Amino acid sequence: MAAAATAGLLSVGCSVVDLGVVATPTVGVMIDELKAAGGLVVTASHNPIIWNGMKCLGGDGAAPPKADAAAIIERFREKRLDYVDVEAMAGVTREGAGHALHVQRVLALVDVHAIRARAFRVVLDSVNGAGGIAGRMLLEALGCTIVHLNGEPTGVFAHTPEPTETNLGELCAVVRDDGRADVGFAQDPDADRLAIVDETGRYIGEEYTLALVARHLLATRGPGALAANLSTSRMIDDIAARHPGAKVLRTAVGEANVVAAMRPARAILGGEGNGGVIVPEVCNVRDSISAMALVLELLAVEKRPLSAIVEELPRYEIIKHTFDLADLGGAGAVAGLLDRVRTAFASERVDASDGVRIDVADGWVHLRSSNTEPIVRLIAEAPTRERAWQLLDEVAVAAGLK
Ligand code: MG
Repeated sequence: MAAAATAGLLSVGCSVVDLGVVATPTVGVMIDELKAAGGLVVTASHNPIIWNGMKCLGGDGAAPPKADAAAIIERFREKRLDYVDVEAMAGVTREGAGHALHVQRVLALVDVHAIRARAFRVVLDSVNGAGGIAGRMLLEALGCTIVHLNGEPTGVFAHTPEPTETNLGELCAVVRDDGRADVGFAQDPDADRLAIVDETGRYIGEEYTLALVARHLLATRGPGALAANLSTSRMIDDIAARHPGAKVLRTAVGEANVVAAMRPARAILGGEGNGGVIVPEVCNVRDSISAMALVLELLAVEKRPLSAIVEELPRYEIIKHTFDLADLGGAGAVAGLLDRVRTAFASERVDASDGVRIDVADGWVHLRSSNTEPIVRLIAEAPTRERAWQLLDEVAVAAGLK
């Protein structure tokens, strides 16, 4: 696929810089370093290999906004191509400095000395994806002892690649049995998401990656704006509320929407509840490398075990449920579902910028159709699992899903 993409780019007059196997955020960094017009990432992200595809990044190193993305897809479908004459074709250069340049930017973000002084022991699961090389490079530069699981970037994933609890049994067991590890990290194959395991081997949940980094940045860099999508845990709002001057901007789901909200507000951090953290000084893409460095800096500053820090964060239970569009009567049925929910909950705080999100005093529910799969997602969060299910059920009934 990379060869086909290169041929396609050459045929329309682009010169191509081949970065080799690198993390998706590294492409964001390199667009900026090379002042490139854009980037193309061949990846299946957190999905198995059969889902490989191409992810576009603009000249700003960010995923294209919805209208631009639609225009790219339309042009692709219509095969509207402006081929150049063979004499006008440029060449391909290879650039192997991506990992190092990316890591350099991340190191500039944190107190390297303070982290090195703690000599952390870290178990890293890179799932044999693209993030292992930069991940290892970062942890070595930060003076960590590394137990590296699945660190060969072969693309043959060692387990089902999404960094969720069910897929990270090996990482949890290795951290637990090691007994001396300070933290376990799991990257997804293209290394834009990071899940965290505490020093006891407990998977703390992807929602905590952004929350921990938000807590740390607000405490050490002063107040600022944070951006997160509407499906992300309310923890970030509670954390921001403890810091006068901090605020949380909520956006439609999709990395491009989060980045678009970050820019005008000069946000210090953006992200998603799936373990995706965007640090604008590094790049405009979710980045597991930045997230690892900031979590280690948090541990260095706090001088306490991760489990103790997590214990102090506001606690919520989040339930994520999906419905197949095929069972609901296709994409055309979605507008009706959303309408019914909006009407039923008109007296509550309703945000209709991406599906419909209902906020009540002790929780929220978000109903929307997926951008990437033929499903409707229903997410509920509340202080207890029971209450989250109750909220989820109420909205499912109002929508006519049950
Ligand atoms: Mg990914």
